[in-house]
Amino acid sequence: MHPFSYTHVSDTRAAIAAGRRGGRYIAGGTTLVDLMRETVERPERLVDISGLPLDEVTVTERGGLRIGALVTMAEAAAHPKVRSLYPAISQALELSASAQLRNMATIGGNIMQRTRCTYFRDVTAACNKREPGSGCAARDGFNRTHAILGTSDHCVATHPSDVAVAFAALEARVHLLGADGERRVPFAEFLLRPARSPHREQALRKGELVAAVEIPALPRPLRSGYLKVRDRQSYEFALTSAAVALHVRGGVIREAKVAAGGVGTVPWKLPAVEQHLVGERPTDALWAAAAQKAADGARPLAHNAFKVELLKRTVERQLRTVGGNQ
Ligand code: SF4
Repeated sequence: MHPFSYTHVSDTRAAIAAGRRGGRYIAGGTTLVDLMRETVERPERLVDISGLPLDEVTVTERGGLRIGALVTMAEAAAHPKVRSLYPAISQALELSASAQLRNMATIGGNIMQRTRCTYFRDVTAACNKREPGSGCAARDGFNRTHAILGTSDHCVATHPSDVAVAFAALEARVHLLGADGERRVPFAEFLLRPARSPHREQALRKGELVAAVEIPALPRPLRSGYLKVRDRQSYEFALTSAAVALHVRGGVIREAKVAAGGVGTVPWKLPAVEQHLVGERPTDALWAAAAQKAADGARPLAHNAFKVELLKRTVERQLRTVGGNQ
């Protein structure tokens, strides 16, 4: 591990000032410390923000939810308001990592976590994300778990977060704190596709930190849920996943929010699926037809073409699970 300095801050102004001087924020540390041990990450200054007052879950004035960046995954998953208003978020969190990690890792850290691409974590491999301009060992290597959507010639790694898929589906906003105060960024704009610069992963300005994730109020009744398909049933990342939220009134789907995980370089919103559903009556035939659009635009690699069909089936099954019997 490379030498580094460590500072603990207890107010946001000091944190942002330290961040603007090049400090790297750390809270739960469940990703960053691993990467530092493997010398994949070599920050010179760590700024411990775990003492900042960003650890509450609150209902917003309009009936949405604000989850502080320092709320742990376990706390968010168990929170009564999260469970009752947005079960997809609780389910996505409970299907992530291990119980021990969920007790340490925070919501802010979760959406900031780095890819599980094995070449990214192997410092002897070419990786544009770790070492810009060095190449991408995954493109011609073993890429069974990699992305089929949103890829570029420079990177094909998936974003590993489960709860980020639920946030993308529900059209959350990320609250960012910086030298100019707080600003909100739509979730779809917060995480960046790799394009030509896969090392740049979030739309953050210098010194900014994630303060909270806000989920907007959605029409009620709203049913939601998260399905994760993986090689084993615990402590494993998604091959495919689907977050679905449906508002059905008078026997007609009025709102549909759908996103997929395990397949995109960022959590992948599925507007074509959503549009196919809105205004229709829930039937098995509708779920099947809508799910056919889930992989539109997919560009499979040598070892992950199976994800195209698996994604469609994952979305269809989760649409039926959430939308059935209404
Ligand atoms: Fe690196 Fe991305 Fe290629 Fe993986 S897919 S080796 S993270 S550039």
